[in-house]
Amino acid sequence: AMADLQILLKTVDFAAKKHRDQRRKDTEMTPYINHPIGVANILSEEAGIKDLVVLQAAVLHDTVEDTETTFEEIEELFGKTVKSVVAEVTDDKTLPKEERKKLQVCNAPHKSREAKLVKLADKLYNLRDLNRCSPQGWSEQRVEEYFKWAFKVVAGLRNTNSMLEEKLDALFQAKNITE
Ligand code: NDP
Ligand code: ZN
Repeated sequence: AMADLQILLKTVDFAAKKHRDQRRKDTEMTPYINHPIGVANILSEEAGIKDLVVLQAAVLHDTVEDTETTFEEIEELFGKTVKSVVAEVTDDKTLPKEERKKLQVCNAPHKSREAKLVKLADKLYNLRDLNRCSPQGWSEQRVEEYFKWAFKVVAGLRNTNSMLEEKLDALFQAKNITE
């Protein structure tokens, strides 16, 4: 069988190829793959997560949502468990954006522990990214609305990992977001 490190590198290689033409929304147009790799690294370095499935799901978390990747492809290459965690963190893009945003808030408490970990690290990465530099065309107010929405999603993910939650809380407190 493949060793864990080989599997993780295969996963990173797959995601890098899928996201190859995409860029982040920051003015520097950072390669998109920096984000899923960074989310997996937050889980490893800052949350102490060693569970391969969680790290793989983090690397793959935006492939189905943002590229032509299918769940069948993920299951075939990485197995049912990884596929199901990726499915839990994938928004249904056939729904209008406002609906998707609401669903993230009300579905968060019902996710598996693995999916909650990926979602916490994803929010932490994106909020740090917004603090680093605003996306092209975003007003101060839009950034603030994003923080407020993220706070509501995170409320449904609590009691999963104290290290991630404390770092998220520090970001919310800095913006005076408490409810
Ligand atoms: P988007 O969903 O359009 O953008 C945020 C998402 O973009 C993130 O969740 C992240 O998702 C991805 N992303 C890519 N690059 C970056 C980056 N550099 N920094 C952070 N995230 C990045 O935004 P929303 O629709 O959530 O808009 C935020 C708020 O603003 C909402 O509450 C909405 O109500 C409001 N809004 C305001 C508008 C206005 O013009 N004033 C228009 C639309 C919404 P991923 O992890 O998948 O990469
Ligand atoms: Zn993401």
